[in-house]
Amino acid sequence: MKAAPFAYVRPTRLEDAVNELAGSDGGGKVLAGGQSLVPVLAMRLARPEKLVDITTVEGLDQLRSTGDSLEVAAMVRQRRVEHDRATDSVPLLRMALPWVGHRELRSRGTVCGSLAHADPAAEIPAVAACLNARITLTSPRGTRQVPAREFFTGAMTTALGSEDILTAIRFPVATDGEGFGFAEIARRHGDFALAGVAVRVAVSGERVREATLTAFGVSDRPVTRDVSTELASAVSASGQDGVRLAARLPEPLADIAQGMVDTDGDAHGSRDYRRRLFVTLSGRELAKAHDRALRGINGDNP
Ligand SMILES: Cc1cc2nc3c(=O)[nH]c(=O)nc-3n(C[C@H](O)[C@H](O)[C@H](O)COP(=O)(O)OP(=O)(O)OC[C@H]3O[C@@H](n4cnc5c(N)ncnc54)[C@H](O)[C@@H]3O)c2cc1C
Repeated sequence: MKAAPFAYVRPTRLEDAVNELAGSDGGGKVLAGGQSLVPVLAMRLARPEKLVDITTVEGLDQLRSTGDSLEVAAMVRQRRVEHDRATDSVPLLRMALPWVGHRELRSRGTVCGSLAHADPAAEIPAVAACLNARITLTSPRGTRQVPAREFFTGAMTTALGSEDILTAIRFPVATDGEGFGFAEIARRHGDFALAGVAVRVAVSGERVREATLTAFGVSDRPVTRDVSTELASAVSASGQDGVRLAARLPEPLADIAQGMVDTDGDAHGSRDYRRRLFVTLSGRELAKAHDRALRGINGDNP
């Protein structure tokens, strides 16, 4: 099948891109890396009247550290972020990127495109939600910031209006006393996750200050919970021993799974199976993130 006919524009200035999108009265679509949109067009799941290709818009290829955040503009490809040293400042993003599809796909796909597409099983939206990154939207009325936890409103549905371009995301950089964890289970590496978790733990000395758990692939959007109470009580019962901690966490996490994992399930895994995956993955990753926070090490998985 071929895409239905559409008009195509390739502006070089953001102002022109915004006006082109707004001028299409809701019938326009932004084209970034094309890794999700082009298959959707080819299968005629969408029939936009106009594509606004933003690949040559000046300034949208910036990846920069701004002190307390890492800013990724709309046309920065996933693979560039994966390999840029600046990404060391956001360890959770570095951990997640190799799980996004395949290398070839990441060479074209953009970080912001993944956010705009908002697949419930996608990795980058989960990282954004866990860190509550700030998303910048630009329309003819100006720019506005949306916290990532408010951006995803349902399956493949976001706070983006028909006139909005997602121009950048700012991930907060990690600070001392923070540790992170990320894991997912997919049938084959590169497939969308059956269940996955992104975790952030912050400690003050040996005390758990904050623990945030985001699940993906198990609901219609990334789901985030504060689990500091559960982690702190598991730590006080098991001491600083990571193995004992990981063994103690599944019990409180099983209760949390009831609320966080609400997918109907499909041919690849029932809801109960995904709940079990979620409990196992989140117990392990919370224990690892806690250990990393205490040791101040957020490099590759030990
Ligand atoms: C075989 C295959 C496997 C994949 N596996 C995974 C996976 O495991 N994990 C995963 O997370 N993803 C996966 N993907 C999706 C991939 O990550 C895409 O790159 C990503 O979802 C979209 O990024 P893109 O830049 O290609 O966006 P596009 O395809 O260009 O656009 C996607 C959608 O977002 C909108 N959009 C894009 N950029 C903007 C913007 N700046 N402002 C407003 N709207 C915008 C478009 O209008 C469109 O609706 C897979 C894709 C394929 C084809």
